Amino acid sequence: MQIDFEEWARRYGTPLYVYDFDRIRENYTRLKEAFSGQKSLIAYAVKANSNLSVIAHLGKLGAGADCVSIGEVLRARAAGIAPYRIIFSGVGKRDEEIRQALEEEILLLNLESEAEMKRVEAVARELGKEARISIRVNPNVDPQTHPYISTGLHENKFGVEIDMAKRMYIYAKNSQWLDPVGIHFHIGSQLTELEPIREAAGMVADLVRSLAAIGVEIRFFDVGGGLGIVYRDENPIDVKAYADVITEAVRGLDLTIVCEPGRFLVGDAGWLVTRVLYEKRNGDKRFVIVDAAMNDLLRPSLYNAYHRIEALFDGEERGEATPAEVVGPICESGDWLGKEVLLPETKPGDLLLIHSAGAYGFTMASNYNTRGRAAEVACEEGRCRLIRDRESFEDQIRLEQAHLEERG
Ligand SMILES: *Cc1c(COP(=O)(O)O)cnc(C)c1O
Repeated sequence: MQIDFEEWARRYGTPLYVYDFDRIRENYTRLKEAFSGQKSLIAYAVKANSNLSVIAHLGKLGAGADCVSIGEVLRARAAGIAPYRIIFSGVGKRDEEIRQALEEEILLLNLESEAEMKRVEAVARELGKEARISIRVNPNVDPQTHPYISTGLHENKFGVEIDMAKRMYIYAKNSQWLDPVGIHFHIGSQLTELEPIREAAGMVADLVRSLAAIGVEIRFFDVGGGLGIVYRDENPIDVKAYADVITEAVRGLDLTIVCEPGRFLVGDAGWLVTRVLYEKRNGDKRFVIVDAAMNDLLRPSLYNAYHRIEALFDGEERGEATPAEVVGPICESGDWLGKEVLLPETKPGDLLLIHSAGAYGFTMASNYNTRGRAAEVACEEGRCRLIRDRESFEDQIRLEQAHLEERG
């Protein structure tokens, strides 16, 4: 839909996150339909954007939730996702998180080590409940993505090697408190190559077959997330080809395919709207200083990530566009949002639009420099509404204030 960013920036202030819920629906539907003819569950990776309205929107479309903390599990529940569509992943879980997840009766806990399995077994025994589990296999496949978001190599902390997975499945099958129902892999994020997925899916499907031969019946084949999107000029994977590669790998097996996309569903459906404060020059270098910063959108500082930045003002009579570094007001040299951004001369109050900010944008926001987190707006079928208030100064000091008074 056509979104009037000016209008919403005026109404709710900047920096402001704006999401296109129609686009999220299109992304979801495209992926779901790619898996048609196969039992599938799209479990949205909540960490990409955990606003309750975003989760609820996807939930209404039929999505489940892939969570990496009990907080995310509770968010998914609060947003109306049914427990049997919730997966709890992550390399480290506290006993208390395991207990709560078991009490919520979620679909399964995804395990990443033998030690974790033993903890889950102990907690399940205490509760007198059988824990449905899956095991994250690290297939040692190079996903050919940014090393910071590669997860499927042995050098990464994620998952267990295939031999270890086998031993864990046998242990789980023989435990009264563990029910091994799933298998999982996730080789990285922002994937743009199909081959590593084909390779990993094939290896893990072979493991499923050898497990079946020893009486371990896997029902959920979780292929993780990681589908890439366009930030600049990437060639993203065609979702139909992606689904076909996976379907091919599990041919002959009776499995529900679980897919855990985050970025693919919400990444290109979000923008960060920011206002220019002023410009400055240091020698030859031109800086455009804006009111959004690394605390609002960390990806450039953290991963050197590229986000397209577009001028929302009419630059015609402002002269030629020249390269500028778009920076925030935070006291860090790493506080930049775009480098070599071609912009005409800007004036205070001009709006800039930062693209593809729907995933790992707001969820990575912090209060660094005591900056309140941005407000969030959702647009759907021609209408926009606020889905999170701007964080106030009072919100930020609330948990400290009483203690200050205690001391007198
Ligand atoms: C981060 C993550 C995802 C989602 O990754 P995207 O690249 O956003 O699709 C899915 N599964 C697991 C286990 C993850 O860690």
